[in-house]
Amino acid sequence: MPEEPCQCPDCRRFYKEHDRLIREFPTLRQQQELNWASLQAFRTLCGRVLEDLQKQYGKNSDKSSDLVVSEENQSQLESINQSISDLDNINAHLFSIEVLMERIFDAKVPEIVDKKFRELAGELAPDPLNIDRLRLNRLLHQTPDVPDR
Ligand SMILES: [Zn+2]
Repeated sequence: MPEEPCQCPDCRRFYKEHDRLIREFPTLRQQQELNWASLQAFRTLCGRVLEDLQKQYGKNSDKSSDLVVSEENQSQLESINQSISDLDNINAHLFSIEVLMERIFDAKVPEIVDKKFRELAGELAPDPLNIDRLRLNRLLHQTPDVPDR
């Protein structure tokens, strides 16, 4: 018997988001652009926060040495320094992903393949708000299956 997919709130949110991204970006080109934009947004935001934290709390910042270092401040500083190093790692990984992802952009497909993308996207992630599907869900479950927002 196949194992039921996990239904915890995190997984359900993931399935929903996963399907939405297939439904709303059903071509190769759209998936390329979406993932590129998403990667760049992640890098921009992380990079900017890192830069700011380093300026404010980095080893060479005079402000951090000016602080009256109470024990509370000390532990807060430690967790901020940990975050700086975590974000630094994330940025390094994002950079590696970017280098790999650039190659994904070399591929271009003809219209017939794009049609296949759209077709399978519709099968993999049918619109939950599609009226036929809502009707079918109601018939199957005998309860209104209104997706939450
Ligand atoms: Zn789960």
